[in-house]
Amino acid sequence: MDTFTVVNPATEQPVADVPLATVEQADAAIASAHEAFHAWRAVSPGDRAALLRRFAAVVDAHVDELAELEVRNAGHTWGNARWEAGNVRDCLNYYAGAPERLFGRQIPVAGGTDVTFHEPLGVVGVIVPWNFPMPIAGWGFAPALAAGNTVVLKPAELTPLTAVRLGELALEAGLPEHVLTVLPGKGSVVGERFVTHPLVRKVCFTGSTDVGKRIMAGCADQVKRVTLELGGKSANIVFADSDLAAAAASAPYAVFDNAGQDCCARSRILVERSAYDEFLTHLAPAVEALRVLDPSDEASEMGPLISSGQRDRVRGYLDEVEVAIAGQAPDGAGWWVPPSVVAVDDPAARIWREEVFGPVVAVMPFDDEAHAVELANDTEYGLSGSIYTSDLGRGLRVARAVEAGNLSVNSHSSVRYWTPFGGYKQSGLGRELGPDAPMAFTEEKNVFLAH
Ligand code: NAD
Repeated sequence: MDTFTVVNPATEQPVADVPLATVEQADAAIASAHEAFHAWRAVSPGDRAALLRRFAAVVDAHVDELAELEVRNAGHTWGNARWEAGNVRDCLNYYAGAPERLFGRQIPVAGGTDVTFHEPLGVVGVIVPWNFPMPIAGWGFAPALAAGNTVVLKPAELTPLTAVRLGELALEAGLPEHVLTVLPGKGSVVGERFVTHPLVRKVCFTGSTDVGKRIMAGCADQVKRVTLELGGKSANIVFADSDLAAAAASAPYAVFDNAGQDCCARSRILVERSAYDEFLTHLAPAVEALRVLDPSDEASEMGPLISSGQRDRVRGYLDEVEVAIAGQAPDGAGWWVPPSVVAVDDPAARIWREEVFGPVVAVMPFDDEAHAVELANDTEYGLSGSIYTSDLGRGLRVARAVEAGNLSVNSHSSVRYWTPFGGYKQSGLGRELGPDAPMAFTEEKNVFLAH
């Protein structure tokens, strides 16, 4: 059997060897999940809710252990990693409220009674990327399980450790076997099998836009349900009437968090021309002060990139441009890139258009509100964005005009488990999280009873 050696990206030291599942093992796991589905959907709503709450409690008791694994496996800071494990717990608790509230409707019709039901799909395949291994797994499995589906989950090759542990914790919490199966393996083997296997009734994919398109095309063959959460090139729009010091102080965290490996990263900063120089004067010290350290140090605010390949990719972008502001990065082992700010005046520049997925932000001036919206929308992506202004009317107007799924005014918040999350245009298809997420893992059935 093939194995994959997981490496600590801050030290380049091996952490663990993880077996990679074969197609045959994927088929067996899917068959077992299908078998388990019939019993799981029959668990009464109250009991299913109680099991999910118990799973949340077990995750809660292991937050530090899970976080430590993620610090070593993915180079996440301690603060982020604890938040991520806590987010899995919170999602489980939130969606534990769903089984008892999966309401249908009674619709007035002639000649009888009409009722609707939300029925689970069956086996759901969740495919997770390496940038946020725990939360993205939870956003898939928590609402899917709550709606009565069973789940097979494939973590990214580079970051399987927390997912494997979550699978163990689910069993410890009393979830029946094969209700949540974690299957480390290659995208081209296990991930593809989720797409082609007829018993997988939905694929929930987060990752690159290129792979997402292939998955959507593959799912078309069986009219398989699919949710896609893909890339982004989100704009942080700063108006001259905003609190410029506050906008500049928060901007680095909106893009350099997780070393910029965040689909919601505000990797384009648009600044009103009259405030441009002053904004950069505030931005420079904020970028230079960012503590880029081995994330095993609790003081670290930014860790390394996930792999040497990702580091080289990001460096490739930086080699083409002049860096206006550069932060720190450690020397020696680890896949480090310093946080970097690039001033851009050409909207055709590669660094302005392409998702770098590293600690790089491009800054450009704009002339007025209409120009800001035009620049923000001049992208194939549409995931998130921020607007800084003291005029809340304008804040709301611009938020409505930007073609993206998740906007925030005077804040960089994107993902809250209470609210829907997803992309416009090539940033995705469908929504995750929020109160309706379990519905996306059901079919709506209509039943008419003649009087
Ligand atoms: P990726 O698309 O290469 O891989 C994502 C997952 O898909 C991995 O588990 C991988 O093994 C699997 N996969 C790869 N090829 C596959 C195939 N042919 N069939 C089925 N599965 C396959 O992306 P990545 O490099 O892991 O992640 C980085 C990208 O993901 C970035 O572009 C980022 O923007 C995007 N991303 C988006 C979101 C979002 O919510 N919108 C979140 C995180 C990451």
